[in-house]
Amino acid sequence: MTIPRANLPADARLETLAVREGLPASPWGENSEGLFLTSCFVHPDAETAARRFANEEDAFVYSRFSNPNVTIMERRLAALEGTTGCIGTSSGMAAILLLVMGLLKAGDHVICSQSVFGSTIRLLQGEFGKFGVESTFVSQTDVAQWKAAIRPQTKLFFAETPTNPLTEVCDIRALADLAHDAGALLTVDNCLCSPALQQPVKFGADIVMHSGTKFLDGQGRVVAGALCAPQEMVDSKFVPVMRSCGMSLSPFNAWVVAKGLETLMVRVLAQSDRALELARWLESHPAVQRVYHPGLASHPQHELAMRQQNGRGGAVLAFDVKGGREQAFAVVDATRICSIAANFGDTRSIITHPASTSHGRLTEAQRQAAGIGQNMIRLGVGLEDVLDLQTDLARGLDALA
Ligand SMILES: *Cc1c(COP(=O)(O)O)cnc(C)c1O
Repeated sequence: MTIPRANLPADARLETLAVREGLPASPWGENSEGLFLTSCFVHPDAETAARRFANEEDAFVYSRFSNPNVTIMERRLAALEGTTGCIGTSSGMAAILLLVMGLLKAGDHVICSQSVFGSTIRLLQGEFGKFGVESTFVSQTDVAQWKAAIRPQTKLFFAETPTNPLTEVCDIRALADLAHDAGALLTVDNCLCSPALQQPVKFGADIVMHSGTKFLDGQGRVVAGALCAPQEMVDSKFVPVMRSCGMSLSPFNAWVVAKGLETLMVRVLAQSDRALELARWLESHPAVQRVYHPGLASHPQHELAMRQQNGRGGAVLAFDVKGGREQAFAVVDATRICSIAANFGDTRSIITHPASTSHGRLTEAQRQAAGIGQNMIRLGVGLEDVLDLQTDLARGLDALA
């Protein structure tokens, strides 16, 4: 017996799956999914309980292993990413923890872009370094550096595209081919685009990693994560680690993310369009030195980004103001609509000064090397009226010009 699926036509398309994929309704016939806040599940008799505990029958047993709300979220996200399987985790970082614990052992080697999310670098280098998994960090855009870093022990490539805040894009297909030739797997952190814009598996990636905290929830409510991968890999590599380590997604957070996925497509497209409009306007502003957004023709990997990201640049952009930290702070502080916070993927636009927040733990030299100056501002564009957002930024920028 397997746990039944939502009753949908086999040829249902992506936007239908985003709204409808999951589990059948309970006997009560609810239209919107119920919330299954239960730590364990009841079995009809001892014989059935024994079969379920022996994995001879698929059923919900204990919410550290699985839960209907988590399964609904996993099935919906897998459908969007085009993978056969998915496993939810308590956060995006917990997804990377599960990835490495599930696939690697002491002596194995990881190649990772040096421009990925800061905590990803600290987890791989700092925490996994302690347990004998070595990592080499290479250029986001120069495939030759990835090739040169390959060792016989290389088991995993890890990429994030586009990156935050510089929006550098890597070539997923080129990295997948290189990884596979080396007998390694490619994982792509798809947080910045979400499957509404980019499905890394289409370009050869083996595993897609998510922070559900960003666009998947999309309304800034919960912390969550997931790995999308072939069902066979989920069952053999990740489920056993989840059962014994317990980086489990809470049913409530899974319910929030599953409902968020229903509106993912429309939100991300609308937010991406607003971001491009703002990026173009910023490029023409006299107080702005440079704008980073893959949708701009001036972006160094514009063409690759358009191919990989369904013709969209995404909803995160950054820009350098003329001047330094003082001028950047003045623009941030002049806003009245944008939230001063360190997140993105929210319906509310969020403005950040990376050098003093998300990248504040780097030394000035590391920040310079990463291309993140004191004059840089990042914007996670939300769903407010784009003219109001423009006015919000113009208040500070016009005063500098
Ligand atoms: C936020 C983020 C993460 C980590 O996700 P959490 O849910 O905060 O643990 C990983 N990668 C990227 C690109 C992110 O933006």
